[in-house]
Amino acid sequence: MPRRFDEDEGPTQEDVQRFGGSAPTTGYCPDCGAEVSDLADICPHCHAWIPEGAARRPPAVTELIRRWYVFIALAVLAVFLYLYAF
Ligand SMILES: [Zn+2]
Repeated sequence: MPRRFDEDEGPTQEDVQRFGGSAPTTGYCPDCGAEVSDLADICPHCHAWIPEGAARRPPAVTELIRRWYVFIALAVLAVFLYLYAF
């Protein structure tokens, strides 16, 4: 007897794990990258609006690099202020 499509009961637990369904209840804030609830509309850390589905994927690598540039710029600025203050 051939297997019919409507006999399929949907994805199994193994299928969910294979397609990266790690933690479906947590996501990442697209603005600050903090781990937030998938059901949250607003980030509890930076209060940024989270579009539906945006929190399901981790922040982009480019965002992390941009934040590193900001950190380095602030560090250089702090060094200059320290040098000129004394
Ligand atoms: Zn945030």
